[in-house]
Amino acid sequence: MTIRTRFAPSPTGYLHVGGVRTALFSWLFARRHGGLFILRIEDTDLERSTAASVNAILEGMTWLGLEYDEGPFYQTKRFDRYNEVIDGLLESGHAYRCSCSRERIDALRDEAMKRKAKPRYDGHCRNLNVDPGQPHVVRFRNPETGVVVIDDMVKGKITVSNEELDDLIIRRTDGSPTYNLSVVVDDMDMEITHVIRGDDHVNNTPRQINILKALGKVLPRYAHVPMILGSDGARLSKRHGAVGVMQYMEDGFLPEALLNYLVRLGWSHGDQEIFSLEELVQLFDIGDVNRAPSTFNYEKLLWLNQHYIKESDPLRIAHLLSPHLGRLGIDPAQGPELVEVVRAQQERAKTLVEMAEISAFIYRDFDAFDESAAKKHLRPVAREPLEAMKTVLTNLGEWTREALRQAVQQVSEQLQLNMGKVAQPLRVAVVGRAASPGIDETLYLVGREACLRRIDMALAFITTREASA
Ligand code: GLU
Repeated sequence: MTIRTRFAPSPTGYLHVGGVRTALFSWLFARRHGGLFILRIEDTDLERSTAASVNAILEGMTWLGLEYDEGPFYQTKRFDRYNEVIDGLLESGHAYRCSCSRERIDALRDEAMKRKAKPRYDGHCRNLNVDPGQPHVVRFRNPETGVVVIDDMVKGKITVSNEELDDLIIRRTDGSPTYNLSVVVDDMDMEITHVIRGDDHVNNTPRQINILKALGKVLPRYAHVPMILGSDGARLSKRHGAVGVMQYMEDGFLPEALLNYLVRLGWSHGDQEIFSLEELVQLFDIGDVNRAPSTFNYEKLLWLNQHYIKESDPLRIAHLLSPHLGRLGIDPAQGPELVEVVRAQQERAKTLVEMAEISAFIYRDFDAFDESAAKKHLRPVAREPLEAMKTVLTNLGEWTREALRQAVQQVSEQLQLNMGKVAQPLRVAVVGRAASPGIDETLYLVGREACLRRIDMALAFITTREASA
């Protein structure tokens, strides 16, 4: 049997990181077992579905590299098929027309609420043979006795009594099929063998199983994956930070970092934290996913992102960094080779956004010196080494890292100062802050003209400070 899994998002907002984790589990399970992974867009909620969120889903899947073998299938294109199945269920007596008025249904609900019972349809129209010509919904005739057993691959055995389930609507008065019906038809037609989804759907599963049984179909296996929580224990949502996957791209995360982070939320393999996708395909098993919800930890995601930035090919990082510089109004072509910037900063940034920010000084002058760095390093004692550096840099033959290293050393020897007393004021002068790559690398990347201009800015700053002291 070929394993076939699917990811079936509803395009009603962002592609949520929780959804991505479910997709990843589904994808890994298929890949692990040499199966196929299918993408289905559940866009039947016409009011809430948007083309923009369909795009966000497709973009997100592409960015993450979760490529699908079939699809995307759109539920809105399959209404005829759903209706065909509904008509079949009507014919076989597994479904019936119901013409109960809204008032009657509301009254049933109010009455149940009063008794503190779960509202459920009382089966009034079950045997009434409602005339198809009159307004009606179609309901599934749920078995009245017995139980439904879900042998869930994550949660274990779940048993639900049929008495708790009522006859659910499968076609609305306007003729449109409902969610539970279309999911069942799709899972059946797409020959899904393993339904891996969020556990917010676990209540739908017994109903879907009953429909599949009525259709005489073999049941898929089910795996309901627990929620992701925010640090306060509430379900992860916008108020905890970014939840849309493309926001992570914009915030400078690498897709492999996000995937590695998400897979570890609820799944583990010993103490191992870092996994390549190839390794995950070897190791992942849906049965090893935790039953308990997991808590999103942004710091850990940052840590993984930093790891992957460090480990990546600098050329790739350069390519990914470029738009982030662009967003700061910087044209990377107006500066040193971008890959050299990346090599200098690769160990120093947790995100590409941060890498762009700490690299801006390479491309343009800053507005002001960092207050505390200036206080510490741009003092009158710094004047002499800065002036000496200015002379040496003006006369330096070749602007190479090695020549720059020697230049700083030469000045510190000449003034009998330790290297830090020369390099730190120089760094603050050229970068605006006290942190940057090695001083030779920093000077090299900034270039002669800007270095000299900024040393002058620093000297002027010292003079002003002295005058106002
Ligand atoms: N469309 C549903 C959702 O986005 C998922 C349904 C399913 O996986 O069965 O929550």
